[in-house]
Amino acid sequence: MMWFFKKKTISSLNRPLVSVRMEAVGGQGANSAGKILAEAAVLGSHYTGNHFSSFGSEKRGSPVRSYVRFSPNHLPIRSTSSISLPDLLIVFHESLIHSRNESLEGTNQTTDLLLNTPHLPNEVQLPKGTQLKNIMTVDATSIARRYGCGINSVLLGASLHGLSEIKKEQLLITLEKFFNKLPKNKIKNNVRGFKAGYKNTEIKSFNSQQASLEISEHSLPHLGWLNAPIGGLVLSPGNTVLKDNSVSRTGIAPQFIPEACCHCGFCDMLCPDYCFVWEKDPTTNTFLLQGIDYQYCKGCQKCISICPVEALIPAKEEEIPKENKKIHLFSSSTTQKIKTLWKDHHWIQSLKELTPEGRNLSFEKKLLNLKTYLKPDYSEVKLPKQKKTLNKK
Ligand code: SF4
Ligand code: SF4
Repeated sequence: MMWFFKKKTISSLNRPLVSVRMEAVGGQGANSAGKILAEAAVLGSHYTGNHFSSFGSEKRGSPVRSYVRFSPNHLPIRSTSSISLPDLLIVFHESLIHSRNESLEGTNQTTDLLLNTPHLPNEVQLPKGTQLKNIMTVDATSIARRYGCGINSVLLGASLHGLSEIKKEQLLITLEKFFNKLPKNKIKNNVRGFKAGYKNTEIKSFNSQQASLEISEHSLPHLGWLNAPIGGLVLSPGNTVLKDNSVSRTGIAPQFIPEACCHCGFCDMLCPDYCFVWEKDPTTNTFLLQGIDYQYCKGCQKCISICPVEALIPAKEEEIPKENKKIHLFSSSTTQKIKTLWKDHHWIQSLKELTPEGRNLSFEKKLLNLKTYLKPDYSEVKLPKQKKTLNKK
């Protein structure tokens, strides 16, 4: 793949209409970023434009898309539909381009991609066949942590490289105005993050002819519409098969420091997803020995705020040691129970008969490794004996 290094802002003059789509998860501030950008275009630069966002369940961790359209030529904009062909696509978390297929929807040789990632543009792994005009990368998560600001401020600063129609000063004034209800130091932090985002953006042009070479294959989800078992069977009742919440994390997850923990249990009381795995000792005291099951954790950081001894600290996802990211943690007694139950089950056999041969083996192996399916043990349940009733006539 050939890359052309650029130092200057991407030239995008004479565009009659500019469409910006932001792909994020709840809590990253994509909606606010969209509002700020639209205000800078409409109120600040006197263009015509509009903005709206679409949410999942309006909570942290759910998918969010924010759409901004503006016309430097003052053309009337009547469309309020979602943007399917963006000129600039801003992705707030690198994992979204792999975990959420539709994040790169509608990109083509005229699209600029701005990605929050610590990698350089030529290191970004894109799904096979992706076509883009330019890739811009900025490590917005690290910058936001360094300056104590939102990821959205950093990405807004970086977005200026793909929006030559908007003046930097104008966007900065709008950002300050938008955050004017925050304490002064917070406003200052967001301004610093904005400037750092602008300064630290790497830009490279994408050679569209070679776009599908040297880039990774996009793997199918374990269970999607193409490979779901016949009849749409839910193999792990009450949840997805992998029970994986990690896609909804915003780049920050709690890191557990076992040495500092006093096993008070406050974190467990606050955690909405039951991520903490406790061990009972013979005296029936419970200890937080296993730590956090990261598959369930969505990075809301509530546990961090409550921990009285700083045994939970915010960390970038990639800073968390690999051995702590094991798929599903169980206390040792539960692990033993799973092993015992697992020995005699028959359901894998039925699964084999239901699913295509090719993926059967790997799928079966994965499930065996993950042990996500726990057959309920009814052996100890004593059902009351049914009394025989006589029909007395
Ligand atoms: S709140 Fe902190 S100290 Fe208390 S159990 Fe959780 S991690 Fe340990
Ligand atoms: S960040 Fe903490 S409280 Fe939030 S889901 Fe993860 S473990 Fe639970």
